[in-house]
Amino acid sequence: MSTSGEEPDRYAVVGHPIDHSRSPVIHQLFAAQTEQNIVYEPIDAPPEAFETAVRGFAAAGGKGLNVTVPHKQAAHEISNELGPEAERARAVNTISFLPDGRIRGDNTDGIGFMRDLTETLEEPVEGRRVLVLGAGGAARGILPPLVEASPATLVLANRTIERADEMIGDVDSSENLATSTFAALADEPAFDIVVNATSAGLRGEEPPFPPACVGPDTLCYDLAYSLKDTPFVTWARANGAREAVQGWGMLVEQAAESFFIWRGVRPNTAAILEHMPR
Ligand code: NAP
Repeated sequence: MSTSGEEPDRYAVVGHPIDHSRSPVIHQLFAAQTEQNIVYEPIDAPPEAFETAVRGFAAAGGKGLNVTVPHKQAAHEISNELGPEAERARAVNTISFLPDGRIRGDNTDGIGFMRDLTETLEEPVEGRRVLVLGAGGAARGILPPLVEASPATLVLANRTIERADEMIGDVDSSENLATSTFAALADEPAFDIVVNATSAGLRGEEPPFPPACVGPDTLCYDLAYSLKDTPFVTWARANGAREAVQGWGMLVEQAAESFFIWRGVRPNTAAILEHMPR
Protein backbone atom coordinates (compact mmCIF):
# COMPACT_ATOMS: atom_id res chain seq x y z
CA MET A 1 0.00 0.00 0.00
CA SER A 2 1.33 3.47 -0.90
CA THR A 3 2.18 5.96 1.81
CA SER A 4 2.25 8.87 -0.65
CA GLY A 5 -0.95 10.35 0.77
CA GLU A 6 -2.73 9.99 -2.60
CA GLU A 7 -6.32 8.74 -2.64
CA PRO A 8 -6.41 4.97 -3.28
CA ASP A 9 -7.94 3.66 -6.53
CA ARG A 10 -11.31 2.01 -5.90
CA TYR A 11 -12.30 -1.50 -6.96
CA ALA A 12 -15.16 -3.77 -5.91
CA VAL A 13 -16.87 -7.11 -6.47
CA VAL A 14 -20.57 -7.01 -7.37
CA GLY A 15 -22.85 -10.01 -6.86
CA HIS A 16 -26.00 -11.31 -5.15
CA PRO A 17 -25.49 -12.80 -2.61
CA ILE A 18 -22.07 -11.30 -1.87
CA ASP A 19 -21.42 -12.11 1.82
CA HIS A 20 -19.58 -15.34 0.89
CA SER A 21 -17.08 -13.57 -1.40
CA ARG A 22 -13.45 -13.54 -0.27
CA SER A 23 -12.36 -11.38 -3.23
CA PRO A 24 -11.99 -8.23 -1.05
CA VAL A 25 -9.52 -10.02 1.28
CA ILE A 26 -7.53 -11.49 -1.61
CA HIS A 27 -7.22 -8.19 -3.50
CA GLN A 28 -6.12 -6.37 -0.34
CA LEU A 29 -3.45 -9.08 0.16
CA PHE A 30 -2.31 -8.62 -3.46
CA ALA A 31 -2.20 -4.84 -2.95
CA ALA A 32 -0.08 -5.16 0.18
CA GLN A 33 2.24 -7.65 -1.55
CA THR A 34 2.75 -5.48 -4.64
CA GLU A 35 2.56 -2.07 -2.90
CA GLN A 36 -0.44 -0.88 -4.91
CA ASN A 37 -2.61 1.87 -3.41
CA ILE A 38 -6.12 0.45 -3.78
CA VAL A 39 -9.28 -0.22 -1.78
CA TYR A 40 -11.63 -3.08 -2.68
CA GLU A 41 -15.17 -3.49 -1.36
CA PRO A 42 -18.17 -5.86 -1.80
CA ILE A 43 -21.35 -4.54 -3.48
CA ASP A 44 -24.62 -6.46 -3.13
CA ALA A 45 -26.85 -5.84 -6.15
CA PRO A 46 -29.81 -8.03 -7.24
CA PRO A 47 -30.24 -8.49 -11.01
CA GLU A 48 -32.59 -5.50 -11.46
CA ALA A 49 -30.02 -3.19 -9.81
CA PHE A 50 -26.87 -4.56 -11.49
CA GLU A 51 -26.39 -2.04 -14.29
CA THR A 52 -27.19 0.93 -12.02
CA ALA A 53 -24.66 -0.36 -9.49
CA VAL A 54 -21.96 -0.68 -12.18
CA ARG A 55 -22.55 2.76 -13.67
CA GLY A 56 -22.88 4.34 -10.21
CA PHE A 57 -19.53 2.88 -9.15
CA ALA A 58 -17.89 4.25 -12.32
CA ALA A 59 -19.49 7.68 -11.79
CA ALA A 60 -18.10 7.73 -8.23
CA GLY A 61 -14.58 7.27 -9.63
CA GLY A 62 -14.30 3.46 -9.40
CA LYS A 63 -11.60 1.94 -11.64
CA GLY A 64 -12.82 -1.62 -12.00
CA LEU A 65 -15.16 -4.35 -10.80
CA ASN A 66 -15.17 -8.08 -10.42
CA VAL A 67 -18.52 -9.61 -11.31
CA THR A 68 -19.88 -12.71 -9.61
CA VAL A 69 -23.12 -14.75 -9.25
CA PRO A 70 -25.49 -14.15 -11.04
CA HIS A 71 -24.31 -11.21 -13.18
CA LYS A 72 -21.57 -12.49 -15.52
CA GLN A 73 -23.80 -12.65 -18.61
CA ALA A 74 -25.37 -9.26 -17.80
CA ALA A 75 -21.84 -7.83 -17.51
CA HIS A 76 -21.08 -9.19 -20.98
CA GLU A 77 -24.15 -7.41 -22.33
CA ILE A 78 -23.18 -3.97 -20.97
CA SER A 79 -19.51 -4.19 -22.05
CA ASN A 80 -18.50 -1.94 -24.97
CA GLU A 81 -15.22 -3.78 -25.58
CA LEU A 82 -14.35 -7.42 -24.83
CA GLY A 83 -11.17 -9.34 -24.20
CA PRO A 84 -10.83 -12.60 -26.22
CA GLU A 85 -11.77 -14.92 -23.33
CA ALA A 86 -14.88 -12.86 -22.51
CA GLU A 87 -15.87 -12.84 -26.16
CA ARG A 88 -15.64 -16.63 -26.38
CA ALA A 89 -17.34 -17.22 -23.05
CA ARG A 90 -20.02 -14.53 -23.58
CA ALA A 91 -19.54 -13.84 -19.88
CA VAL A 92 -17.51 -11.19 -18.02
CA ASN A 93 -16.00 -11.41 -14.53
CA THR A 94 -13.66 -8.38 -14.76
CA ILE A 95 -14.80 -4.89 -15.70
CA SER A 96 -12.38 -2.02 -16.33
CA PHE A 97 -13.67 1.52 -16.72
CA LEU A 98 -11.75 3.00 -19.65
CA PRO A 99 -10.64 6.67 -19.63
CA ASP A 100 -13.18 7.51 -22.38
CA GLY A 101 -16.05 6.20 -20.22
CA ARG A 102 -16.52 2.89 -22.03
CA ILE A 103 -16.70 -0.45 -20.24
CA ARG A 104 -14.12 -3.15 -21.03
CA GLY A 105 -15.10 -6.74 -20.11
CA ASP A 106 -12.63 -9.56 -19.55
CA ASN A 107 -13.02 -13.11 -18.30
CA THR A 108 -10.30 -14.56 -16.07
CA ASP A 109 -12.29 -17.55 -14.72
CA GLY A 110 -11.01 -19.98 -17.36
CA ILE A 111 -7.36 -19.00 -16.87
CA GLY A 112 -7.72 -19.21 -13.09
CA PHE A 113 -9.49 -22.58 -13.15
CA MET A 114 -7.06 -24.21 -15.59
CA ARG A 115 -4.04 -22.91 -13.69
CA ASP A 116 -5.32 -24.47 -10.48
CA LEU A 117 -6.49 -27.74 -12.07
CA THR A 118 -3.54 -28.47 -14.34
CA GLU A 119 -0.60 -26.68 -12.66
CA THR A 120 -1.30 -26.70 -8.91
CA LEU A 121 -3.29 -29.96 -8.77
CA GLU A 122 -1.39 -31.44 -11.75
CA GLU A 123 -4.59 -33.04 -13.08
CA PRO A 124 -4.40 -33.77 -16.82
CA VAL A 125 -7.46 -33.12 -19.00
CA GLU A 126 -6.33 -34.57 -22.33
CA GLY A 127 -8.03 -37.91 -23.06
CA ARG A 128 -10.08 -37.82 -19.82
CA ARG A 129 -13.85 -37.97 -19.26
CA VAL A 130 -14.94 -34.61 -17.90
CA LEU A 131 -18.31 -33.57 -16.48
CA VAL A 132 -19.25 -29.94 -15.87
CA LEU A 133 -22.34 -29.41 -13.71
CA GLY A 134 -23.99 -26.03 -14.31
CA ALA A 135 -24.33 -23.72 -17.30
CA GLY A 136 -24.20 -20.27 -15.73
CA GLY A 137 -21.61 -17.52 -16.01
CA ALA A 138 -18.78 -19.47 -14.34
CA ALA A 139 -19.31 -22.55 -16.53
CA ARG A 140 -19.16 -20.26 -19.58
CA GLY A 141 -15.69 -19.11 -18.50
CA ILE A 142 -14.21 -22.56 -17.90
CA LEU A 143 -15.75 -24.45 -20.83
CA PRO A 144 -13.63 -23.05 -23.72
CA PRO A 145 -10.21 -23.79 -22.12
CA LEU A 146 -11.45 -27.21 -20.97
CA VAL A 147 -12.51 -28.05 -24.54
CA GLU A 148 -9.15 -26.77 -25.84
CA ALA A 149 -7.35 -29.16 -23.47
CA SER A 150 -8.74 -32.11 -25.55
CA PRO A 151 -10.77 -34.23 -23.13
CA ALA A 152 -11.98 -37.59 -24.52
CA THR A 153 -15.54 -36.55 -23.61
CA LEU A 154 -16.98 -33.41 -22.07
CA VAL A 155 -20.55 -33.54 -20.78
CA LEU A 156 -22.26 -30.32 -19.71
CA ALA A 157 -25.22 -31.00 -17.42
CA ASN A 158 -27.64 -28.38 -16.16
CA ARG A 159 -30.95 -28.17 -14.34
CA THR A 160 -32.27 -26.11 -17.27
CA ILE A 161 -31.11 -28.21 -20.22
CA GLU A 162 -31.87 -25.46 -22.78
CA ARG A 163 -29.22 -23.29 -21.16
CA ALA A 164 -26.62 -26.07 -21.53
CA ASP A 165 -27.61 -26.60 -25.18
CA GLU A 166 -27.28 -22.88 -25.90
CA MET A 167 -23.86 -22.79 -24.26
CA ILE A 168 -22.53 -25.78 -26.21
CA GLY A 169 -23.79 -24.07 -29.38
CA ASP A 170 -21.68 -21.02 -28.51
CA VAL A 171 -18.47 -23.08 -28.14
CA ASP A 172 -16.69 -24.28 -31.29
CA SER A 173 -18.48 -27.50 -32.22
CA SER A 174 -16.75 -30.71 -31.24
CA GLU A 175 -17.92 -34.32 -31.47
CA ASN A 176 -16.72 -34.89 -27.93
CA LEU A 177 -19.18 -32.39 -26.42
CA ALA A 178 -22.63 -33.36 -25.15
CA THR A 179 -25.30 -31.98 -22.85
CA SER A 180 -27.30 -33.87 -20.27
CA THR A 181 -29.92 -33.50 -17.59
CA PHE A 182 -28.77 -34.37 -14.07
CA ALA A 183 -31.07 -37.45 -14.04
CA ALA A 184 -29.62 -38.89 -17.30
CA LEU A 185 -26.11 -38.86 -15.75
CA ALA A 186 -27.17 -41.90 -13.70
CA ASP A 187 -26.76 -44.02 -16.87
CA GLU A 188 -23.19 -42.79 -17.59
CA PRO A 189 -20.00 -44.48 -16.34
CA ALA A 190 -18.12 -42.49 -13.65
CA PHE A 191 -16.15 -39.46 -14.87
CA ASP A 192 -12.43 -38.75 -14.32
CA ILE A 193 -13.07 -35.09 -13.47
CA VAL A 194 -16.37 -33.68 -12.14
CA VAL A 195 -16.61 -29.90 -11.83
CA ASN A 196 -19.42 -28.30 -9.86
CA ALA A 197 -20.13 -24.94 -11.50
CA THR A 198 -23.63 -24.60 -10.06
CA SER A 199 -24.54 -22.22 -7.28
CA ALA A 200 -26.65 -25.03 -5.75
CA GLY A 201 -24.52 -25.26 -2.59
CA LEU A 202 -24.46 -21.52 -1.83
CA ARG A 203 -27.54 -21.86 0.35
CA GLY A 204 -26.44 -25.20 1.81
CA GLU A 205 -28.72 -27.46 -0.28
CA GLU A 206 -27.88 -31.14 -0.92
CA PRO A 207 -26.29 -31.47 -4.43
CA PRO A 208 -28.93 -32.79 -6.89
CA PHE A 209 -26.52 -34.99 -8.92
CA PRO A 210 -26.59 -38.83 -9.29
CA PRO A 211 -23.80 -40.51 -7.23
CA ALA A 212 -22.95 -42.69 -10.27
CA CYS A 213 -20.99 -39.70 -11.73
CA VAL A 214 -18.30 -40.32 -9.12
CA GLY A 215 -15.99 -43.32 -8.80
CA PRO A 216 -12.75 -44.14 -6.94
CA ASP A 217 -10.65 -42.46 -9.68
CA THR A 218 -12.67 -39.23 -9.85
CA LEU A 219 -11.32 -35.79 -8.98
CA CYS A 220 -14.24 -33.59 -7.89
CA TYR A 221 -13.65 -29.85 -8.14
CA ASP A 222 -16.11 -27.43 -6.57
CA LEU A 223 -15.89 -23.90 -7.95
CA ALA A 224 -17.56 -22.79 -4.70
CA TYR A 225 -15.41 -22.28 -1.62
CA SER A 226 -16.03 -22.07 2.09
CA LEU A 227 -14.10 -22.18 5.36
CA LYS A 228 -15.70 -25.59 6.05
CA ASP A 229 -16.43 -28.38 3.53
CA THR A 230 -18.89 -27.29 0.85
CA PRO A 231 -22.01 -29.48 0.33
CA PHE A 232 -20.50 -30.71 -2.99
CA VAL A 233 -17.17 -31.68 -1.40
CA THR A 234 -19.02 -33.54 1.38
CA TRP A 235 -21.20 -35.27 -1.25
CA ALA A 236 -18.18 -36.19 -3.40
CA ARG A 237 -16.29 -37.73 -0.47
CA ALA A 238 -19.40 -39.62 0.69
CA ASN A 239 -19.66 -41.09 -2.82
CA GLY A 240 -16.05 -42.32 -2.87
CA ALA A 241 -14.24 -39.67 -4.97
CA ARG A 242 -10.43 -40.01 -5.18
CA GLU A 243 -10.09 -36.35 -4.23
CA ALA A 244 -12.51 -33.46 -3.64
CA VAL A 245 -11.33 -29.86 -3.60
CA GLN A 246 -12.90 -26.44 -3.27
CA GLY A 247 -12.38 -23.48 -5.60
CA TRP A 248 -9.90 -21.50 -3.45
CA GLY A 249 -7.10 -22.03 -5.96
CA MET A 250 -9.25 -20.82 -8.83
CA LEU A 251 -10.40 -17.86 -6.76
CA VAL A 252 -6.85 -16.70 -6.11
CA GLU A 253 -5.64 -17.35 -9.68
CA GLN A 254 -8.57 -15.60 -11.41
CA ALA A 255 -8.21 -12.70 -8.97
CA ALA A 256 -4.49 -12.42 -9.78
CA GLU A 257 -5.32 -12.22 -13.47
CA SER A 258 -7.92 -9.47 -12.82
CA PHE A 259 -5.36 -7.62 -10.68
CA PHE A 260 -2.85 -7.85 -13.53
CA ILE A 261 -5.40 -6.44 -16.01
CA TRP A 262 -6.11 -3.47 -13.72
CA ARG A 263 -2.66 -2.74 -12.27
CA GLY A 264 -0.17 -4.27 -14.75
CA VAL A 265 1.49 -6.11 -11.84
CA ARG A 266 1.32 -9.88 -11.29
CA PRO A 267 0.94 -10.92 -7.64
CA ASN A 268 2.64 -14.02 -6.24
CA THR A 269 -0.30 -16.41 -5.86
CA ALA A 270 1.69 -19.21 -4.20
CA ALA A 271 2.40 -16.94 -1.22
CA ILE A 272 -1.35 -16.32 -0.78
CA LEU A 273 -2.44 -19.93 -1.45
CA GLU A 274 -0.22 -21.17 1.38
CA HIS A 275 -2.71 -19.59 3.80
CA MET A 276 -5.87 -20.89 2.11
CA PRO A 277 -7.90 -24.00 3.01
CA ARG A 278 -8.45 -26.67 0.32
P1 NAP B 1 -24.88 -18.27 -12.20
O1 NAP B 1 -24.50 -17.61 -13.48
O2 NAP B 1 -25.96 -17.68 -11.36
O3 NAP B 1 -25.28 -19.80 -12.60
C1 NAP B 1 -25.79 -20.63 -11.61
C2 NAP B 1 -25.81 -22.08 -12.10
O4 NAP B 1 -26.20 -22.92 -10.99
C3 NAP B 1 -26.81 -22.36 -13.21
O5 NAP B 1 -26.32 -23.41 -14.01
C4 NAP B 1 -28.04 -22.81 -12.42
O6 NAP B 1 -28.92 -23.65 -13.15
C5 NAP B 1 -27.38 -23.62 -11.33
N1 NAP B 1 -28.21 -23.77 -10.11
C6 NAP B 1 -28.55 -22.79 -9.24
N2 NAP B 1 -29.28 -23.29 -8.22
C7 NAP B 1 -29.39 -24.63 -8.46
C8 NAP B 1 -30.01 -25.71 -7.77
N3 NAP B 1 -30.66 -25.52 -6.62
N4 NAP B 1 -29.89 -26.96 -8.30
C9 NAP B 1 -29.22 -27.16 -9.46
N5 NAP B 1 -28.61 -26.18 -10.17
C10 NAP B 1 -28.70 -24.94 -9.67
O7 NAP B 1 -23.63 -18.44 -11.22
P2 NAP B 1 -22.08 -18.52 -11.62
O8 NAP B 1 -21.52 -17.17 -11.70
O9 NAP B 1 -21.98 -19.45 -12.78
O10 NAP B 1 -21.43 -19.21 -10.31
C11 NAP B 1 -21.62 -20.61 -10.05
C12 NAP B 1 -20.78 -21.02 -8.82
O11 NAP B 1 -19.39 -20.92 -9.13
C13 NAP B 1 -20.98 -20.15 -7.57
O12 NAP B 1 -20.98 -21.00 -6.44
C14 NAP B 1 -19.78 -19.25 -7.56
O13 NAP B 1 -19.46 -18.78 -6.26
C15 NAP B 1 -18.73 -20.20 -8.09
N6 NAP B 1 -17.57 -19.50 -8.70
C16 NAP B 1 -16.34 -19.62 -8.11
C17 NAP B 1 -15.24 -19.04 -8.68
C18 NAP B 1 -13.89 -19.19 -8.05
O14 NAP B 1 -13.00 -18.40 -8.37
N7 NAP B 1 -13.68 -20.18 -7.22
C19 NAP B 1 -15.37 -18.28 -9.86
C20 NAP B 1 -16.62 -18.18 -10.45
C21 NAP B 1 -17.72 -18.80 -9.84
P3 NAP B 1 -30.10 -23.05 -14.08
O15 NAP B 1 -29.46 -22.64 -15.38
O16 NAP B 1 -31.04 -24.19 -14.21
O17 NAP B 1 -30.69 -21.88 -13.31
